[in-house]
Amino acid sequence: MNNPFIELGIRHDIVNAITELGFENPTPIQEQSIPVLLTGSNDFVGLAQTGTGKTAAFGLPLLELLDFEENYPQALVLCPTRELCLQITNDLKNYSKNMSNVNVVAVYGGASISDQLRQIKRGVQIVVATPGRMLDIINRKAIDFSQVQYVVLDEADEMLNMGFQEDIDSILSTTPEDKKTWLFSATMPSEVRRISKKYMTDPYELTMGAKNTGNANIEHEYYIVRARDKYAAFKRIVDFNPEIFGIVFCRTKIETQEIAEALIKDGYNADSLHGDLSQQQRDKVMKRYRERSLQLLIATDVAARGIDVNDVTHVINYSLPDEIENYTHRSGRTARAGKTGVSISIINSKEIGKIRQIERVIGKKFIKAEIPTGFDVCEKQLFGLIHKVHNVEVNEQQIEQYIPRIMDEFADLSKEDLIKRFASIEFNSFLEYYKNAPDLNVPEDTRAGRDSNEKFPRTGMRADFTRLFINLGSVDGFGRGDLLGYFCNQTSLVGRNIGKIDVKGVYSFIEVPNADVDQAFNAFKSAEFKGRQVRIEISADGDRNESRGGWSNKKREGGGDRRDGGNRREGGNTRGNERSGSGFRDFSGKRREDRGERRKRF
Ligand code: AMP
Repeated sequence: MNNPFIELGIRHDIVNAITELGFENPTPIQEQSIPVLLTGSNDFVGLAQTGTGKTAAFGLPLLELLDFEENYPQALVLCPTRELCLQITNDLKNYSKNMSNVNVVAVYGGASISDQLRQIKRGVQIVVATPGRMLDIINRKAIDFSQVQYVVLDEADEMLNMGFQEDIDSILSTTPEDKKTWLFSATMPSEVRRISKKYMTDPYELTMGAKNTGNANIEHEYYIVRARDKYAAFKRIVDFNPEIFGIVFCRTKIETQEIAEALIKDGYNADSLHGDLSQQQRDKVMKRYRERSLQLLIATDVAARGIDVNDVTHVINYSLPDEIENYTHRSGRTARAGKTGVSISIINSKEIGKIRQIERVIGKKFIKAEIPTGFDVCEKQLFGLIHKVHNVEVNEQQIEQYIPRIMDEFADLSKEDLIKRFASIEFNSFLEYYKNAPDLNVPEDTRAGRDSNEKFPRTGMRADFTRLFINLGSVDGFGRGDLLGYFCNQTSLVGRNIGKIDVKGVYSFIEVPNADVDQAFNAFKSAEFKGRQVRIEISADGDRNESRGGWSNKKREGGGDRRDGGNRREGGNTRGNERSGSGFRDFSGKRREDRGERRKRF
């Protein structure tokens, strides 16, 4: 075998395992840090972006240096999030799968502590932990760190961002003075500098690329739009990139939830990830995203920290982050492991200064991009479809039996006619949606006062809509999608013209265009549902504000949903209103999310 990791000093058992993972050549950080760390005699500071192979850079030396004949904690890896904690644990287990007696335990909040205590009790050499839960276990005197030789602080800047400074201090005070500390960080704010001074003696410093520089494989683009056009512009960008597999960053949990709901309602394959979801819900979303049965992950900064998903094509900053450093973390979710990626920011004309600031920090220029026109999108989608038809794998066996009938049906059509019709099936809905679509670009120097409301508009109803009360709700088994279907069936109104739907327990509210109110009343004159008379009324004004968020028709570009169904997106959940567990529960990470928000602003 000729794997260069052998030359770096890694044993065959481990090299065999990582070769199976596709590690054929060390990444630059691995190449430079492994020989240093293998000596076991240095403190170490590695400045490197996420996705550059840091885990193996410290993980492989740990596996070489520890004594796995012994079963006490010898190494502690601290990291900011549960996701990263599980990722590192899993990676270490994979690297060591051909070694015996390697015990790695993941310690993180939001999961059963008794399981973790049991695993620790059974014996462990490497503990991978988030600081909060680790401290909890230390305070219970359930772990002995007196023989720890190596402490790794991974994504140190993130841990400090999240307010873990005190916890880290307390944890490290239980480890021996002469241990070695290896710190990895994407950026080097003064807090990290301070921590390295505090815990390390004459550390070996390694900077991959210029300090704070973003990954060179990422292209940074910005689009300038009016605040009110932001969502429409965002959808155009997505439509223009049919193969997108992206993470969309919002500034707040509410914005995250709302964008996800709006996208789902508009037929996109999207879901949200934020701190108000329970751990179980977050895991479920992440599983779907990892498996690529979800195309767009809408996330807050905190929730998306440490996410390592392969082949993310686009990071979209729906809102720019409050802190400049977070831009680097966000964009680092794409272009991992040597791949390329695009980081897109949708801004208003007043935010151009922030872009210039980010350019200075990452040392790279942004490209000013133009929101595609409706025509561009249609053309792109059309040729995407043609390409798909051309490349589709035909199941000869299954289709054979139907061929004679199909041929029969098409007997009177020429090849050209047939092609036109196939293409039109999907294309028509795009044409319809994008006909008369306005230009959404705003020149860079525009100073439109109306842009001052850069926040995502959340509530409110158009004057040309009426809010109707209906005496059906979730107790009757309705989600928003079901109610929309039922209402449209009953009234013959078109779903895309209906506004916000707010499903309560025994009743709901539906916004309909004023022009359609009479039609709705007529349709429900003698309607029954499961033997009960269905009643609609014009809702009192006071009811308007009681709903939480939601989405009104005014945000729909061109006045309507653009999709007729979800068949376009594989495995997509196109009925967001039925998403699992709409109840919002607290979870322990919330405290961190709140703390993290105290950081300095732009
Ligand atoms: P990390 O920065 O450790 O999160 O790694 C980012 C991604 O790169 C992970 O998916 C790793 O599996 C992958 N990776 C790390 N090192 C290598 C390597 N030497 N060759 C190929 N892929 C790697």
